[in-house]
Amino acid sequence: MKFELNWENLGNIREGRPTFGTDCPVLMYRLLQFSLRNVIETESGEGKGGEYLYKAGELVGRLIHKKFLADIKDTDELFTKLANLLYELKVCILRVEKSYPDKGEFVLTASEDLDCSGVPEIGWPICQFDEGFVAGILSVFTGKHAVAKEVDCWATGERFCRIEAKVE
Ligand SMILES: [Zn+2]
Repeated sequence: MKFELNWENLGNIREGRPTFGTDCPVLMYRLLQFSLRNVIETESGEGKGGEYLYKAGELVGRLIHKKFLADIKDTDELFTKLANLLYELKVCILRVEKSYPDKGEFVLTASEDLDCSGVPEIGWPICQFDEGFVAGILSVFTGKHAVAKEVDCWATGERFCRIEAKVE
C-alpha cells in the first residue's frame, strides 16, 4: 500500500507529543535525511540519493505552496511570505539575491540552512531537497515547469547556500 503524503497523515503532533512538543533537533533531521540518502545510493546507485531527495523536495514545495502561499500573485510577496515561513520553521534565513520574474530567473540564498550548515567540504552541493523544494513552489506558482540548482553550499566550502532557479 502506498503511503500518501498529505497534511492529515502528518498527524496532530501537538496532541501526540504533549511532553516534547513539535520541535526536533537538527541532529535527528540530518541523521534521517543523510541515512535515507545513503540507503538509496546503496540500493539504487550513486547520485540517486540526490535525485530522489530533489523529487521529495518538489512534493513538499507543492504541499507548502498549497497550504501557505496559494493566494499570492506577486513574486516579491511570494518570496517574502516564504522567507517568513522558513524563518518561523527554523529551516533557514532565505534571501532573494536576484529576481527576474519576466525571464523566469531567480537566485536565492539560504543561511543557517537545516540541510547543510556546518557540514564539512565534500566538493559537491548536498541540498537537493532544497533545490526540489524551490522548484516545486515555483512550478505551482507560475503554472510552468521550474528547475533549481544549488551552485554554492557549505558542502562546497561556502558559508551559505545559493540556489539558481529557472522557470521553463
Ligand atoms: Zn547547501
